[in-house]
Amino acid sequence: MANNGEQMCVAKGWQDAPLIDESTLEDDLSRHFYYTLGRDKVGKSQLYLYNALALTIRDRLVARCRATKQQMHSEKRRKTAYISLEFLMGRALGNAILNLDLEEQVKLALNNYCAHIEHVAQAEHDAGLGNGGLGRLAACFLDSCASLALPVTGYGIRYEYGMFNQSIENGHQIEQPDNWLREGHPWELSAPEQAKRVKFFGHVESYTDKNGRIHRQWLDTEDVLAVPYDVPIPGYKNDIVNTLRLWKSEATDEFDLGEFNAGSYSEAVAHKNLAEQITMVLYPNDSSENGKELRLRQQYFLSSASLQDIVGLWVSQHGEKFSDFADFHVFQLNDTHPSIAVAELMRLLIDDYDLDWDAAWQITTKTMAYTNHTLLPEALEKWSVSLFARLLPRILEIIYEINARFLAQVALAWPGDVAKQQALSLIEEGSDPQVRMAYLAIVGSFSVNGVAALHTELLKEGLFKTFYELWPEKFNNKTNGVTPRRWIAHCNPKLTQLIGEKIGQDWVRDFAQISQLRRYYDDVKFHKQWQSVKLENKQRLVDLVKARCGVEFDTSMLFDVQVKRIHEYKRQLLNVLHIIHLYDRIRRGDTANLVPRCVLLGGKAAPGYYMAKRIIKLINNVADVINKDPLAQPYLRVAFLPNYNVTAMETICPATDLSEQISTAGKEASGTGNMKFMMNGALTIGTLDGANIEIRDAVGADNFFLFGAQAEQIEGIKQSYNPLHIIHNTPDLLNVMQLLESGHFNLFEPGLFDDIIGAIKSPHDPWLVAHDFDSFVQAQKAVEHAYQDQQHWTQMSILNTAASGTFSSDRTISQYSDDIWHLEALTTSSSADTAVSNSKD
Ligand SMILES: *Cc1c(COP(=O)(O)O)cnc(C)c1O
Repeated sequence: MANNGEQMCVAKGWQDAPLIDESTLEDDLSRHFYYTLGRDKVGKSQLYLYNALALTIRDRLVARCRATKQQMHSEKRRKTAYISLEFLMGRALGNAILNLDLEEQVKLALNNYCAHIEHVAQAEHDAGLGNGGLGRLAACFLDSCASLALPVTGYGIRYEYGMFNQSIENGHQIEQPDNWLREGHPWELSAPEQAKRVKFFGHVESYTDKNGRIHRQWLDTEDVLAVPYDVPIPGYKNDIVNTLRLWKSEATDEFDLGEFNAGSYSEAVAHKNLAEQITMVLYPNDSSENGKELRLRQQYFLSSASLQDIVGLWVSQHGEKFSDFADFHVFQLNDTHPSIAVAELMRLLIDDYDLDWDAAWQITTKTMAYTNHTLLPEALEKWSVSLFARLLPRILEIIYEINARFLAQVALAWPGDVAKQQALSLIEEGSDPQVRMAYLAIVGSFSVNGVAALHTELLKEGLFKTFYELWPEKFNNKTNGVTPRRWIAHCNPKLTQLIGEKIGQDWVRDFAQISQLRRYYDDVKFHKQWQSVKLENKQRLVDLVKARCGVEFDTSMLFDVQVKRIHEYKRQLLNVLHIIHLYDRIRRGDTANLVPRCVLLGGKAAPGYYMAKRIIKLINNVADVINKDPLAQPYLRVAFLPNYNVTAMETICPATDLSEQISTAGKEASGTGNMKFMMNGALTIGTLDGANIEIRDAVGADNFFLFGAQAEQIEGIKQSYNPLHIIHNTPDLLNVMQLLESGHFNLFEPGLFDDIIGAIKSPHDPWLVAHDFDSFVQAQKAVEHAYQDQQHWTQMSILNTAASGTFSSDRTISQYSDDIWHLEALTTSSSADTAVSNSKD
């Protein structure tokens, strides 16, 4: 190489990076605190200490992440991209310390600053890049993939503002923006040199190449840059660190030339806003879509950037040869949100890499896999064709072509059946024609799965019946799960220690082993220990409720908890009616068999969801009246915890005695909150819905409080539903309704709850609140009866934890890998005895 007389310089490589190990953690923390962050002493806020610690831990993740990537990409290896508009990660620090097994060293290092890990960890903002269960599932899945050493990369959006912060003012929900990045996000590493261009608007033209082949090109587009930010995902004590790649939208450097030349430099620069809007905010609707253009932009932005990333990497390694691309790639679409990826992969292969339609379709339908998360029709996304035509004209063309070929297939299967063709068409006809995105996902995927046994059956019989007739082999079930690392080992250290003393700690990586706890069913000494762990956890929740709600909970009372998004189908309203019923009993002096209880509710309502917000107000008003009534004091306390999120759940689920899972049967696809509570020894009161059914099967009917109509009865009940008749024939419910209607809970706010009262009394109430009330009250009486026998309650609690083995997301992910992804585990540098086991019992 030519040089101008300088000495040859060999650039240093990773092998020359300074060694980082256990012995340097203390020094690394100091270096980051004093030098990287430039601090001299710990102030009142622990923010800098937190940041220094996060950077110290990140150093250790980066090294392992590099090694994991090398393994993933050094040879041809089958990989999965998990594509999701939401990842509800919560805090990262505690999880990383647990998974890297650094607890003791971190404690020692923090001693130098007279700081405690629990306190320092409070400085971290939740990464709230999701609404609820669907986003949290994606987060649990990433933990399981890394812990099972599976080559899986998460792809999502780096929202500037995540799920809003909720406060309660005068009983009403107030939304505040979640500026979670304001104080920095030490976990991420950006890679601006790997940015992708995503096209919007413009138009499509044909051109003929030199071989006479006709091509389509998408021209005069307004491009947006997608810049990747990588978040490390550590596996549990196996030295694997996978990646969650989050995309941020930025303006390209090409400004609008017209404006620029007209001297409007500032206006041209201000145009950047439009591009940066795309990843500005998470849509706060859980289980409902609302057809907003910006939402479609987010979906296409994520799909296009992620596919370009994966296809681009393939081309850089193997050239533009796609014959075996499908052997090495799976794209798992988390719900319908990223289903536009089906059309985008077709576009990339055809327009950018010259494949013909059939070759591109072969690849697409061998790599795309779709998870459905809901049966609520309002959550099945549709986009108007006219919006599509303007925003993504080339994608619409491809969808039309997919549809034409698909409908030809339908015509073959059902000759002459025009109605069938209309029913299955990707385009819903009408005055404002719509693209049916779920249908695009089904047609373009080789696998379609539901998220609990009942949900999958209902998909096959109902929503997607005809698709099931056409392609039964595509349909499969993958019952959801949650990670036992975050949801026991991290959030319930007391229980973790107790379990460890009895059956060792292997259950953290091989959760089927938790069933060994059954051995202690009759061990009275163990019962006492189990109870004292619960008591300590209840005290932590007492402190939280006191600080956040100003309500005094009492650890000697039964802790009855319902926390989840506020939605009519989840029936927080039924819970409120039961609370009012208990209050009514107290007022009537019917307290002989009343078990004192503290009822906690929490959850966010979508800002535009009127009924959900009114239900929050009702909960708060009822809580106020009850908590102020000295008569109720000994028996009943009620609190609404503001801003329910992952971090709050980490204190809530270990402290819960009774888990409320009371959705109208057939409406909750799976639920995952139910699993977190079960693992931590709560008993469930629930309907036969979603994964509740499997929970009850696992723990046994005697250890589960069942009530309510069953899914297959719902249609029949609705035929002749007469809530007024039910109310008048159910004295307890009549009393409750009279209290509500008398304005007892809204003395100074007349009419406030009229709509709620109207909904309960409506013969069209789809959630059948009045129908299930009495059954619910009876089940709650069974709870009271059971709770009075503390010994037996403790036995049931132990059984719930012991039976929760199958609800680990490790089991779920093993099934995805075995049945859909067909991945081979990476080699872990640590020995086989520390890798998470994928045994499935
Ligand atoms: C687990 C979890 C959910 C899902 O709860 P469901 O009861 O299954 O609806 C929602 N939000 C948070 C913060 C969670 O941790």
